[in-house]
Amino acid sequence: MEVEHIEKYLSINKTNFDNQILEYINNNKMLAVNEGNEDLANYMWCLNKIFKIQKNYISAYNLLKNKEFQDAWLLLDRIEIDIYLLSNNFDISSDKYNIEYILDRIHDFQKLYPYEYFISRESIIKSEKCTICGRKVGIRHSCGHKKGRLYNGELCLHKVTDFEFRGMALVKNPFDKFAYIQIEDKEYNYGMIELLINELHSPYEKWHIEDTKIKKIEYLRIGRNELCPCGSNRKYKKCCKDTEKELMTHYIIVFDNPEGHKRMPLTTFSTYK
Ligand SMILES: [Zn+2]
Ligand SMILES: [Zn+2]
Repeated sequence: MEVEHIEKYLSINKTNFDNQILEYINNNKMLAVNEGNEDLANYMWCLNKIFKIQKNYISAYNLLKNKEFQDAWLLLDRIEIDIYLLSNNFDISSDKYNIEYILDRIHDFQKLYPYEYFISRESIIKSEKCTICGRKVGIRHSCGHKKGRLYNGELCLHKVTDFEFRGMALVKNPFDKFAYIQIEDKEYNYGMIELLINELHSPYEKWHIEDTKIKKIEYLRIGRNELCPCGSNRKYKKCCKDTEKELMTHYIIVFDNPEGHKRMPLTTFSTYK
């Protein structure tokens, strides 16, 4: 299959995916590797990733529609990692394949989730291997391959072969978002995300979240000379007044209708996150 046909296929908004296209991409990559055409092989790796990112995004959207919020969270995280790997080797800012659009939607969906704390593993890496040449890599020895780069259609990663486990940490802004903390007996409230997903007609609809800050409820009707609601025993005007402490994040979901008329924001809501 011609490269242009694959590019054209990937540039249309679709909700069903033809897996045969993926086979064409992989075949093209194999041929390019055999012919020693490294650029083409690398490009086919990128098109393969783009196909998977688009397909997984539609799956995640469908999971959200079916209210399978936890599975959707894990898939959104995986897509985010794939986009990160792709962005090292492909300019994702061109909106031809919707990749940046998908990344922005992932970040917006993540904001609406009630997850607050995550587990982060702390360990010391003692030895790593390059996935391209299999040689040991470290601060003192480099094999010449760069982590995250493509070589003949394959991604260079550093595979950890030995590490020392140090412990677990509870963090708010993790690198890996999949390990969120499930608190026993605590029902998570997915209400915000449910509101949004019920309103969406298509995975490609234009919407975004605007972040603003508003005053927390307990600070709304406080006189300057009254005791500060934070419990400091100081006067409000000498404590939290006009500081970050009395504010909380407030999200506004905005729908941008492509037909030109702007729908009113569906809802606004606040979070202590
Ligand atoms: Zn190497
Ligand atoms: Zn205060």
